[in-house]
Amino acid sequence: MLEDRFSIIGAGIAGLTLALSLQTQGISCAIYKSRPSPQNIGGAVMLSPNSLKLFDDMSIYNDLKQLGYSFDTLYFRDVAGSPKETYPFGSVEKYGYSGLRVYRYQLIDLLLQKLTTTNIPIYYNHKFSHVVSESEDTISSLLIDADGIHSRVRKYTYPELSPKFTGMVGITAAVPTANLRLPTRDYKMPVTIIEVLIGKQKRMPELSRSGWNDFYADKEAAVAFLREGAEVFGDIAVTATSDIPHEHINIWPFHVILNLPSWSSQARRVLLVGDTAHALPPSSGQGISQAVEDVVMLAMLLGKGKSGKQDLGWWQEYRQDRLEQILLLNARGTEEKDDEQGFDLDWLYGHDVVKEVQRYISGLGVEGV
Ligand SMILES: Cc1cc2nc3c(=O)[nH]c(=O)nc-3n(C[C@H](O)[C@H](O)[C@H](O)COP(=O)(O)OP(=O)(O)OC[C@H]3O[C@@H](n4cnc5c(N)ncnc54)[C@H](O)[C@@H]3O)c2cc1C
Repeated sequence: MLEDRFSIIGAGIAGLTLALSLQTQGISCAIYKSRPSPQNIGGAVMLSPNSLKLFDDMSIYNDLKQLGYSFDTLYFRDVAGSPKETYPFGSVEKYGYSGLRVYRYQLIDLLLQKLTTTNIPIYYNHKFSHVVSESEDTISSLLIDADGIHSRVRKYTYPELSPKFTGMVGITAAVPTANLRLPTRDYKMPVTIIEVLIGKQKRMPELSRSGWNDFYADKEAAVAFLREGAEVFGDIAVTATSDIPHEHINIWPFHVILNLPSWSSQARRVLLVGDTAHALPPSSGQGISQAVEDVVMLAMLLGKGKSGKQDLGWWQEYRQDRLEQILLLNARGTEEKDDEQGFDLDWLYGHDVVKEVQRYISGLGVEGV
C-alpha cells in the first residue's frame, strides 16, 4: 500500500533526483526500493555537462566534483598506441562544465545525503508488485516508475515488453594503477587516479535468466576473457590484467529500450522515467544524463500542475526528440567534425532544459532540442 500521493518506485539516480526535484517544486513524495540498502553497482560512470548543470542547480555538483575526475576529452589510440580519435565530453569554456568521472555510489550517496535534509521517506525492502487499479478521477496521485531497465512497473503498461539485447556484453574491471607497467616514466596518468578501468566487449547470444546468472557468477571466465590477447596491447594491458580483483569485475549485457509509444499509462497515473522509459546504448555515455533531464523536466511540469495529456505528451515528445539525436550521434561515431573544433555538441552539452520547460509553461513554445 503506498502512503504518498506521489510515489516513486526505484531509488536509482532517476528516482532520487526526481524526489529532490519534486521537493523543490513543493511536491511531497515517497520513494520505494526493493533492496534493503542503496545499490553499489557499475563502478564509475561518466557525467556530461548537461546533467552536471542540473546537479549544480541542486547544489550537489561542487561536492561531486571533489570526489571525481574532471576531463574534457576522450582519447582513442590504436593497438600500437598511436592516437586515432578524440571525442569531446565537456568544456568549461564551451558548456560551463568539464565531463566528470565519478563512482556511481558516490553520486547516489550525495543524493541520499541531500534527501536527509528533506522529509522525503525512502522505504527500503519494498518491492513493487502490481498496480491494483487506476482511474482518471484521482486528481493528483501518481506512481512514477524509476526502477530501471528491467522494470517491473513497466509490466503494467507493457506486459509483453522485454529490453532488447544488442548481442554485445561489456566486461570491465577496476585494477590498481600501481599494477601497471607504463611505457615511459613520463607517461601521462592523472595523479589522483588510484585505479584504472579496463574492459573489453564480446558478442554473445541472448541467455535465459539462469544462463545470465551463471555467466555473472563465473568471474574466472571473465578474468580469462580480459587477459586473452592482452599482449597485443603491450605491457600496460599485460600488467593491468595480471591481477584482477574478482570483486571489481562488472559484467554488463547491453540491452536497450527505444521508442516506447507512451511513457504514461492509459489514465496517466503511472509515468515512466529514466532507463525504464528509454535505455540507451552504453556507447552514448548519456544514460544518466538523460534520466536526470527527464525527471527535472517532469518535476517542473508537475510543480505547475501540468500533468494533462497535452503536457505529458509534450514532455515525452521533447525527450524522445533529444534521445533520437543522441542515437544518431552514436551511430555516426566520430566521422563528422566541424572545422578544427571537432564536434559541435552544444545542442547536447550546452542545452538548457530548464529554460525549455519554462518557455512551455509560459506558453512561448520551445526553441527546439
Ligand atoms: C556497468 C554500467 C556502466 C554505466 N556507465 C554509464 C556512464 O558512464 N554514464 C552514463 O550516463 N550511464 C552509464 N550507465 C547507464 C546508467 O547506469 C543508467 O542509464 C542509469 O543508471 C539509469 O538510471 P535509473 O535510475 O533510470 O535506473 P537504475 O540506475 O537502474 O535504478 C533503478 C532502481 O530501481 C530499483 N528497483 C528495481 N526493481 C524494483 C522494484 N520492483 N521495486 C522497487 N525498486 C526497484 C533498483 O534497485 C535501482 O535502485 C552504465 C550502466 C552500467 C550497468
